[in-house]
Amino acid sequence: MRAEIKEFMDALKAKTVGEPEFHQAVEEVIETVWDTYQANPKYKANKILEKMVVPERVIKFRVPWVDDKGEVQINVGYRVQFNSAIGPYKGGLRFHPSVTEGQLKFLGFEQTFKNSLTTLPMGGGKGGADFDPTGKSDNEVMRFCQSFMTELCKHIGADTDVPAGDVGVGGREIGYLFGQYKRIRNEFVGVLTGKNREFGGSRIRPEATGYGALYFVQHVLHHAGKDIKGKTVAISGFGNVAWGAAKKATELGAKVIAVSGPDGVCHIPAGMNAEMIEYMLELRASNKNIVAPMADKFSGVTFTPGKKAWSIKCDIALPCAFQNELNENDAKELLANGTWCCCEVSNMGCTAEAIHTFQAAGILFAPGKAVNAGGVSVSGLEMSQNSERYSWTAEEVDQKLGQIMKDIHDTCVEFGKQPDGRIDYVKGANIGGFIKVAEAMCAQGHV
Ligand code: GLU
Repeated sequence: MRAEIKEFMDALKAKTVGEPEFHQAVEEVIETVWDTYQANPKYKANKILEKMVVPERVIKFRVPWVDDKGEVQINVGYRVQFNSAIGPYKGGLRFHPSVTEGQLKFLGFEQTFKNSLTTLPMGGGKGGADFDPTGKSDNEVMRFCQSFMTELCKHIGADTDVPAGDVGVGGREIGYLFGQYKRIRNEFVGVLTGKNREFGGSRIRPEATGYGALYFVQHVLHHAGKDIKGKTVAISGFGNVAWGAAKKATELGAKVIAVSGPDGVCHIPAGMNAEMIEYMLELRASNKNIVAPMADKFSGVTFTPGKKAWSIKCDIALPCAFQNELNENDAKELLANGTWCCCEVSNMGCTAEAIHTFQAAGILFAPGKAVNAGGVSVSGLEMSQNSERYSWTAEEVDQKLGQIMKDIHDTCVEFGKQPDGRIDYVKGANIGGFIKVAEAMCAQGHV
C-alpha cells in the first residue's frame, strides 16, 4: 500500500476502532480513487475524502418488544445517514444478529457510491438492528417492526431518508414498518421502498437486484467477447436476491448448478428448474435459514453439509448472500476448478484478498456496488412513481432497469479501462461513483 494511503487509513482506523468492515470498504475505495483525488486540487482543498468517510449522522436507539412468551426483549436499532450530497439518504434496513454500527457504516459508505452510479438522485444511508428473524413468529416480527419504526419515524421522510429492505427485511417487514409509520405520522407517502404493489410498491422491485445483476453480467461477458448461454453458474444464498439472479440466469440460458445456505450447498448438475427457483422463496419464508430441504424435495439435488457454493465447479460465481462470504481460499478453489468470472451480487461479498486473487489471475471480476445496483435503482423508480402517484408497467420498469445497468457498465468502462484494454471494474465503479458525489459536495460548501 502507498505510504499516503496507509497514513490516511491509519488516521481513520484510530478514530473508528473496532469497525473492520468499514475499514475494508473505505480502503478499497481510497486505493482506487486516490490518483483522481490528488489530480483535482478542488477536491483536496475541500477535503472531500476526509469528509466522505464521516457519516453525516448516526442514529442509535433502543428497540424493546415482547416475545410470544410474554418476555421483554431488547435490541439495538440504527440508521446511518451517510451522505446526502446528491439526494435524500437511501438504502436498506438489515435485521441480523451481526449488525453493529461498523457494519452499517460499511454498508452506508458503499451505498453512497452505488447510488451515485445508478444515475438517480439518491444519497447513501443504511440501517437495521441486531434482531435475528430466524425462528421468530409473524407476530413477533410485527411487534419488533412496530417498535423499531416508533423511533425511526422521527428521523426519516419521503424527502429526507427512504429506507428499504436488505438481509432479513423483505416485503413482510416493509409492510409492518410502513403501517406503523403511517399510523404515527398520519401520512401516506413513499417513505419506504420495496412495498407491496397494493400500497405503492413498484413492479419488478422484488426481482430487481437479481435481474439487474444478470443484466450487468451480460454486459461484462459481451464486453469480453463471451456469451452467458450454456454457462454454469454457482450462487450463494437463497433469499430474494439469489432468487432473482437464479431466475434471470436461467431465463438467459445459463445453468444454475449450485445454491447454498449457512448449512451447506445444494448441487444441481442439470441446473435449477422453475419449480426449484420458486421453492427458494418458500425456504426463505420458513425463517429457518437452511437450504438442505431442497434436496429432500427434488430429485437430482445433492446436499453437502458445511460446504460453500464455491466448492462446485462452475464458469461464473455469483455471491448473493453476505459480506466476505468468498475468501482467498474460496477464490483459489474456484480458479483451480476453472471459474473465469465472479460478479459480487452481495455487498462486499469477497474479501480484499479474494479480489486480489481474482485480479492477479486476470479473470473477469466486478464489485457489488455496480453489480447489485439494480435493487436500489428500482427503489429510486418506486420513489418516482410514488411522487407522481402513478405506477408503471412491468415492461416499463424492466426497460428502465436494463438501461440503468447498461449506463453503470458504461461508467465502469469509461473509468476502469486499463492500457491493455481490460476493464478494472473495481476502479471504474469507485471512480465513477466518487466523481459525482465529490462534485456535488464541493458545490455545496462545508456542510
Ligand atoms: N439493500 C439494497 C442495497 O443494498 C437495496 C436498498 C434500497 O433499495 O434502498 O442496495
